[in-house]
Amino acid sequence: MAAYTSTHNVCLVYDDVVCESNPTRLLKLYYQATFMKDLLSLKRFQFTFCLCNRDDYVIDWELTWFTLNFSLVYDASFRAHYASRHYTFKFKLFLDELPLLEKLKITRPDLYIDLLTCRLCHDRKEDLIHLILCTKCHTGIHQILQTYQNHLFSKLREAEKLADMDPTPMLRKLSSLSCWTISSSNWSSYALIQGCLPKAFIDLFVDLSIPRQSAMKVVAAIYNNFVQKLRTRIWNSRTYDKCKWKNVMNFTLKLKTTLRPSNLPATSYVPFSSLPPLTHLVTSRDSGTDWIKNSMI
Ligand SMILES: [Zn+2]
Repeated sequence: MAAYTSTHNVCLVYDDVVCESNPTRLLKLYYQATFMKDLLSLKRFQFTFCLCNRDDYVIDWELTWFTLNFSLVYDASFRAHYASRHYTFKFKLFLDELPLLEKLKITRPDLYIDLLTCRLCHDRKEDLIHLILCTKCHTGIHQILQTYQNHLFSKLREAEKLADMDPTPMLRKLSSLSCWTISSSNWSSYALIQGCLPKAFIDLFVDLSIPRQSAMKVVAAIYNNFVQKLRTRIWNSRTYDKCKWKNVMNFTLKLKTTLRPSNLPATSYVPFSSLPPLTHLVTSRDSGTDWIKNSMI
């Protein structure tokens, strides 16, 4: 790295902070920071600001991006075709772009009327939060979340054996994290499922002298296993039920692929309506120069 940066004889300093001696890297970092700012300013990511002051759930963005880009190894039993479906599902889950009814009502209000509720419980409007909280999915999600936790437990035990330490405090710390309890007011469980992963997972391994890079691989593999189960056990069965309903309603592919009529009325649905107001948090980050400065430190 020293040899790489020493080829540039400039050193950019902003407000006494040495930014980067390599202008190419500096520009790359700057654009990454602005893209990140744009992403987090989307309404669907405002829940992340609710997690900032939590002791037990601080999002580790490096781990989050690493896990999103992490590919499952495929072989004869897990073909490339399934791997690509898995990858697509994982990104749609992260970006809250799964074709849930509340999304479809926005894109095709001519086909999905505003009154439509979740096809499983027939009780609530179906968005990502509801998919996690739906009474018909709750047991299944709880089970796969338990498996997620068990996988982390077993990997921590292995690391503790290597480090020759008592595993009890680490395991207690992991199981006490708020993210394992799903509820409508618990944004850490939402973040965990959606893919914004916590720093605490990595810290537990690093405390046991496991290198950060190895810990990220372990956590990424465990999260990807969870997503695979979420897709096959929860999402696919939900989609199967929805398809049965669509057949009853005579929804054909031809109908779905026809052009959306223009001048459709706007939907009354307000996404993330249960989120607390975040104006004070958002305005405190409005200063562009502070953001750029902070992202460089
Ligand atoms: Zn439901």
